[in-house]
Amino acid sequence: MVTIDGEICIGCEACVTQCPFGVMATTPDGVAKCELCNGDPQCVKYCATGAIEYADPEAVGLRKRVNAPMQS
Ligand code: SF4
Ligand code: SF4
Repeated sequence: MVTIDGEICIGCEACVTQCPFGVMATTPDGVAKCELCNGDPQCVKYCATGAIEYADPEAVGLRKRVNAPMQS
C-alpha cells in the first residue's frame, strides 16, 4: 500500500496533479489517498455487483496471465 508520511509531506500537491488515475486528493488537512480502510475496504464490502476485489497483486497477475488470450 502506498501511504503518505505526514511528517515529510510539504503539501506541494505535485502528486495530485501527476497521478493519471486521480487517486490523490486535496483536503483542508493536506493531500490524501485511499489507504484501504486499514485492511477492511468498505468499497469492496458495499459494491453491489462485486466489481471491486481486494486481492494479492501476485495472485491477480498470475490469474491475468493464465486467462490471457493466446498470441499467435
Ligand atoms: S503533496 Fe504529494 S508530492 Fe508534495 S510532498 Fe506531499 S506527498 Fe509529496
Ligand atoms: S472505501 Fe475503498 S476506496 Fe475508499 S478508502 Fe476505503 S478502501 Fe479506499
